[in-house]
Amino acid sequence: MEAGGRRSARPPRRTRDAAMTCTRISPRTCTRISRRRFLTSTMAAASAAIASPAVHAQPAGPRVVVIGGGFGGASCARALREADARLRVTLVEQSRTYTASPMSNAVIAGLRELAQQQFTYDRLARDGVTLALAAATKIDPPARAVTLADGTSLAYERLVLSPGIDFRWNAIAGYDEAAAALVPHAYRGAEQIALLRRQLESMEDGGTVVVAAPVNPARCPPAPYERACLIAHYLKTRKPRAKVIVLDAKDSFTMQKLFENAWKELYPGMVEWVSVSAGGALASVDAKTRTLSTDFDKYEAAVANVIPPQKAGRVAELAGVADRTGWCPVDPMTFESKLQPNVHVIGDAAIAGAMPRSASAANSQAKICAAAIVALLAGRTAQAPTLTSSCFSLLAPDYAISQRGTYRPVDGQYTESDPGIVVSPLAAARDVRIAEAREAAAWFADITAGVFG
Ligand SMILES: Cc1cc2nc3c(=O)[nH]c(=O)nc-3n(C[C@H](O)[C@H](O)[C@H](O)COP(=O)(O)OP(=O)(O)OC[C@H]3O[C@@H](n4cnc5c(N)ncnc54)[C@H](O)[C@@H]3O)c2cc1C
Repeated sequence: MEAGGRRSARPPRRTRDAAMTCTRISPRTCTRISRRRFLTSTMAAASAAIASPAVHAQPAGPRVVVIGGGFGGASCARALREADARLRVTLVEQSRTYTASPMSNAVIAGLRELAQQQFTYDRLARDGVTLALAAATKIDPPARAVTLADGTSLAYERLVLSPGIDFRWNAIAGYDEAAAALVPHAYRGAEQIALLRRQLESMEDGGTVVVAAPVNPARCPPAPYERACLIAHYLKTRKPRAKVIVLDAKDSFTMQKLFENAWKELYPGMVEWVSVSAGGALASVDAKTRTLSTDFDKYEAAVANVIPPQKAGRVAELAGVADRTGWCPVDPMTFESKLQPNVHVIGDAAIAGAMPRSASAANSQAKICAAAIVALLAGRTAQAPTLTSSCFSLLAPDYAISQRGTYRPVDGQYTESDPGIVVSPLAAARDVRIAEAREAAAWFADITAGVFG
């Protein structure tokens, strides 16, 4: 029996080498590992068998399917192969190119190019991860099978879901997928980021940009306020008579004092924050006229950015791992779903206690989850993990603040642990903010190299 009293994973089936698992995937959606690599590994297995008559060619290892090739999923797929090269790991991802959200606010503000946010899965394929570039459309946990949009079926011993977020369309009247094509959320996907940037570029000087920030829980809690800062930076340098209004569904937000200080110091008179108590809750959106209505006011925006309330990516519902909150309860030791055995959920979709929904958290969870899967498949108990998350917010090109946290499971939930949450100092010399901006860039380069490079 595994930890938690669940049934052990099925023993590895004797099938062909991992390199041949592609035969189960349609040629359109699968990247085979190179023939040379396959021959090399086959030859290595053969020579091992010759060297020791007692050793036979390695049987194919257990199958792990990972759905979602973002900071959580891609990292987990890679960590699984690194931890145990016998594992047959398939990464299911609906896009050929991944567009990272961290630093995307700088793209919106014209400080970076979209291409700097984009990554492919070539390196994962070279590391022996089988790619299935299609959407997962059906999951059958009792049968341990995933169906892809092209009809391909993938069997697994363990399934990892890292689908990120989905939006609660129409939770704000008039804000649905069609409306998002006119009034972007810019919280997921390349087109949305590019659309918001184009709208800012083409707006007249003197107009108002309205950013609507969502209720928690949501992806990257400081991101709407970072966005307000960088949009203010864009306006200050290109359209100085324009301003930014943040309509908030909350009364307070993370690192609030640091943000408010920066608004005063960097963008005096340009950023106005309207809390929920002051009437900031967005009630409806008329996307055609860019009119945003609260219970008290109407805002006619030159550019409107509505970040709607969120839930786990839809595939979580398909797998039956999301609860009534829309998010996925997991065992913090293994990230195994509390609702479906053999299915693990990591990243933004998971309920991970005090951990924020960040790329940094998704990346640490991915590694813990991979180690736990390897342990569970070997009939061992997963080790108690310590996880970290660091989140930088860029408030101007040379001005950043951060929040770093360490977390451990306590009573079945991730809780802040020593040294606790460390936030940038409120009073700091400009050099400190400049150094944090450099650190933010280095963090992004490092994490994306670790996941995709
Ligand atoms: C503006 C902004 C700024 C941010 N800044 C930071 C920051 O500074 N630091 C930080 O740590 N975090 C930041 N984040 C948060 C970070 O981007 C997310 O927390 C992180 O991407 C979560 O990783 P994930 O793997 O859970 O989801 P994602 O990275 O969203 O990956 C999910 C993947 O799953 C795929 N997928 C979904 N459903 C399916 C399906 N059915 N079939 C196949 N594929 C599917 C998607 O295509 C996607 O590639 C920011 C977010 C935003 C929006």
